[in-house]
Amino acid sequence: MNSAPKKQTAIIGFPLSHSLSPLLHNAMYEREGVNAEMKAYANESITDLIKLIRETPIELTAVTIPHKQTVIEFLDEVDPAAIAIGAVNTIINRNGKLIGYNTDVVGIAKALEGVVLKDKNVLIIGAGGAAQAVGYYVEQKEGRMFCLNRNAEHAKSFVQKFGGRAISAEELENQEFDVIINTTPIGMSPHEAESPLTKNVFKPSQTVFDLIYNPLETKFLHEAKAAGAKTISGLTMFIAQGLGQERLWLGRGIEDKGYKELIIV
Ligand code: NAP
Repeated sequence: MNSAPKKQTAIIGFPLSHSLSPLLHNAMYEREGVNAEMKAYANESITDLIKLIRETPIELTAVTIPHKQTVIEFLDEVDPAAIAIGAVNTIINRNGKLIGYNTDVVGIAKALEGVVLKDKNVLIIGAGGAAQAVGYYVEQKEGRMFCLNRNAEHAKSFVQKFGGRAISAEELENQEFDVIINTTPIGMSPHEAESPLTKNVFKPSQTVFDLIYNPLETKFLHEAKAAGAKTISGLTMFIAQGLGQERLWLGRGIEDKGYKELIIV
């Protein structure tokens, strides 16, 4: 039996009541034989959390709302892709040096594996932190982006950064979309009765991706599926971004060993 103290990893954010990250990462440690444990630290103060990471020390930190952007100035180094996205979801503590990365984009790539984006019309709903990682990925894949967001100014900044154009809800019916991606929390538990789009936008030829993974099938995805579209839930992204975090920390390939079954109970 390994009697060495467990290495510490963490998820930080506020609030954190629904985070599935400890469940996922602790299962990975068990299945990979890594002597570590992930704990959740809900705190509104990023300075307190950075102090905790340096002093404990915490070797891998998963970062979520509201710290993904504000954490950047406290890090010693930030990966160029995370800088381009403008958000860090992972901090690796290498001998006291805090390095920031973004593995949301790894998760998005996995979720959209096999979906052609080049020269396709891609509607992105939302312009927040997760939307920035989607924008970065779709720009790399040369998709034609349209951004629909509650706050039109945020949509404008989004398209200035990643290309494409901002679109209003009224304009949607005059435009065809090949891929539709929801990056807002609309429809997330406990608001399952809500959807960010009206169902007449969905077509059988579309791929529709919702970043939400709780519930697994949101009203948005349910209506898209009923219209014949191919649907993708946020769970594939969630697991892939977590595997990406462990690969960065452990420096070796970590494969998916049925983690979906662990989360869908
Ligand atoms: P965020 O930075 O707070 O951005 C939220 C976005 O949604 C903003 O564009 C905001 O519009 C819009 N929005 C929020 N509430 C709205 C409402 N009631 N009506 C209309 N628009 C609304 O959050 P985030 O980090 O991007 O996360 C967004 C979602 O993605 C969450 O559900 C999160 O769980 C999910 N996510 C999933 C994964 C995964 O691995 N599957 C990873 C990251 C995030 P305004 O600009 O108008 O405020």
